[in-house]
Amino acid sequence: MNKKILVVGAGFSGATIANLFATKLNYDVHIIDKKGHIAGISYDYTDNNGIVIHKYGSHIFHTSNEKVWNFISQFCDFNQYIHKVLVFIDGKYCSLPFNLNSIYQVFNKQKAQIIEEKLYKKYEYNKKISVLDFLNQDDEDLKKLARYVYEKIFLPYSLKQWGFKPDELNCDVCARVPIFISKDDRYFQDKYQGIPKDGYTNLISKMLNYPNIKVSLNCDFKTVRNSLKDYDMIFYTGAIDEYFGYKFGQLPYRSVRLELEEYNQEFYQFNSVINYPCAQKFTRIHEYKYFSNIKINKTVIAKEYPEAFVLGKNNRCYPILKKDNFILYEKYLNEAKAKNNLCFLGRLGDYMYYDMDKAILRAIEVFDSLDI
Ligand code: UDP
Repeated sequence: MNKKILVVGAGFSGATIANLFATKLNYDVHIIDKKGHIAGISYDYTDNNGIVIHKYGSHIFHTSNEKVWNFISQFCDFNQYIHKVLVFIDGKYCSLPFNLNSIYQVFNKQKAQIIEEKLYKKYEYNKKISVLDFLNQDDEDLKKLARYVYEKIFLPYSLKQWGFKPDELNCDVCARVPIFISKDDRYFQDKYQGIPKDGYTNLISKMLNYPNIKVSLNCDFKTVRNSLKDYDMIFYTGAIDEYFGYKFGQLPYRSVRLELEEYNQEFYQFNSVINYPCAQKFTRIHEYKYFSNIKINKTVIAKEYPEAFVLGKNNRCYPILKKDNFILYEKYLNEAKAKNNLCFLGRLGDYMYYDMDKAILRAIEVFDSLDI
């Protein structure tokens, strides 16, 4: 009889580990998800107009990791989409990450030239600086620039997105969107980027489409908890605090609510994603049509409203990377270490703000590190 594993959660982490066990070791894999669909928060679907909707917000695949790229490219082709983001400040739109083009978009030419010169003197071209480090300036003009960027883009956005100021969060969070000493307007500088031509749900479905992988949807871990002895190993990509019955308390998360609007026009806005740090209650507007080449006179947008995660009400989307939460997570991690044949991974299992490529990489590394 083949050996058997249980994988809890059918997002990128679960699908990667499931695929590796099924294809490399010929294990029988049972993958369960409490949602009615696979693909976790990368889930997408095609609406009545033929527009592909990213149900939980825009997902753009990007990686510079060859291992991840080679793995994922087995299952889909990617389109040529290059992600760019605009941010709305005081009635103007400028490039994000805030870069040398952004300066000219928000200041007059004379002022922008002075600032640009000073930035060239201080930093190497293509340098990325976290906004919190960028605030430490000696020069008066650069000091004002740094305050401007902090106060107009990072402070209000973070308050809406997280309910905290940037400096109350782990520095990696804001560093995801640096100040960029460059004229490169791309949101990501990774070697590989794009969107799966047939969508994320189809991609995950291909990862799981093997005779020795069984997928059970609408299947809560609680319902299989009593039959864990049937499995040689368990890979749990759900929330680690939930697994342990919240015995040390709940790990906090941010959730988001996406409100869809449909319009009878070709496009609603002039970029796929526009951020609104100050104006409006939402943080950004996604316009999905930009991700594919569909030519129709209709478009769908999603306004993204961050909100607290409340058990039973909404989804866990982002772990809140703060010192107190790491301390709480460590307690669960210590419990996890004491369990044989049980491995936690993924955004919720590791309490980490993984992008899709990082979730895949973590699952590949877990697989490679096993002594089987
Ligand atoms: N951020 C910000 N202003 C912006 C965009 C991002 O302050 O206009 C900060 C904010 O704290 C956000 C983080 O940078 O949560 C990461 O942004 P990213 O676009 O990577 O978030 P994601 O797409 O993962 O939601």
